[in-house]
Amino acid sequence: MNNPFENALTQLQRAASVMNLDSKIHEKLQSPKKVHTADITITMDNGSTKTFPAWRSQYNDALGPFKGGIRYHPGVTEDEVKALSFWMTMKCAVVGLPLGGGKGGVIVNPKELSETELEQLSRGYVRAFYQHLGPTKDVPAPDVYTNGQIMAWMLDEYEKLVGKHAPGMITGKPLSLGGSRGRDKATAQGGVFVLLETVKKMEMNPAETTVAIQGFGNAGAHMAELLSAAGFKIVATSDSKGAIVYDSGLDIVALTEYKEKTGSVINFNGAQTITNEELLTMAVDILVPAALENQITADNAGNIKAKMIVELANGPTTPEADEILFKNNIVVVPDILANAGGVTVSYFEQVQNASNYYWTDEEVMEKLKKIMIAGFEGVWSTKEKYTIDLRTAAFVTALERVSAAMKARG
Ligand code: GLU
Repeated sequence: MNNPFENALTQLQRAASVMNLDSKIHEKLQSPKKVHTADITITMDNGSTKTFPAWRSQYNDALGPFKGGIRYHPGVTEDEVKALSFWMTMKCAVVGLPLGGGKGGVIVNPKELSETELEQLSRGYVRAFYQHLGPTKDVPAPDVYTNGQIMAWMLDEYEKLVGKHAPGMITGKPLSLGGSRGRDKATAQGGVFVLLETVKKMEMNPAETTVAIQGFGNAGAHMAELLSAAGFKIVATSDSKGAIVYDSGLDIVALTEYKEKTGSVINFNGAQTITNEELLTMAVDILVPAALENQITADNAGNIKAKMIVELANGPTTPEADEILFKNNIVVVPDILANAGGVTVSYFEQVQNASNYYWTDEEVMEKLKKIMIAGFEGVWSTKEKYTIDLRTAAFVTALERVSAAMKARG
């Protein structure tokens, strides 16, 4: 079994030894500051009651308020939420945001809940944790299987409890409630900016570059759309029901409509069905994991043929797999850099909420691009300085910032 929190600590250990991280700071960073737990009970539509275990992990807030999404998934565990909150700490730091790291999770399959049940669960989450949340304390956002509507219910519940408006207590809100333009596509857009920089470094030509994307949710589907518009050929993708391949390139606009209608990418016009494992080990130039943790492991890393992996998911590659990929000269653009576009636009959303003045799409994109490229360049130069892989370089870059803030606080 791959425990994501153990993987996160191994990544921390690798970076700490490269940079000689202060041992007291290293020790502090080996556990979250606080993990809040709750059992959320709701009344189901049939009159019965059901209880859902939930967490909010507040990892580190040296750089600013805890920040990170809430995941609804049947497989959520406490260690997963802790790992995700650690990665949020590193992610915010690597792109230089004045934010710490947190994460929430609920063990639930939201696809089995009605709209009313989902709303109750989301309001219940806020009732359980609201004393620990707030624009200057801890700021949630969407993650796997949560979305703008859920953020809207959570905001509404929070404002009722505290008796005032506080739009900056949560991000990823609908535009009508103070959401930011560009937030929906932000994770993918940020990934595209760093992917294009890496493609330049590797002297690849987009028009001759094939891509396989594991996952067709918010991050994966938007990535497919943006990359195919930029001239890349998307030959394979997948969702929780299976994977598809189409060698001459998938029509992403048609595929998106198809998924909206049928609920899955499976059996799309002319595409062949393959296994998830086949997708990961396909002969493509770029592989984009955009689903869950632990997809690239010691078992399959040796079979990966892509030249580059761009991690839109959090934690898709285990530390053992990282070693194999590095030996095989496969460039891994790590999650904490590649998917930082989402939280960057969340930060923009909070800035807009605080000033009550809203930006255009162009303003958001321009600012996002600057931050992502600066983040990429920082990580790339750290990699050159120490001759290390990009993941360790990203952690070193982030840890320099987090440890400076922790030291300054004394
Ligand atoms: N869930 C996203 C992530 O893992 C976004 C977090 C946020 O915007 O706070 O990066």
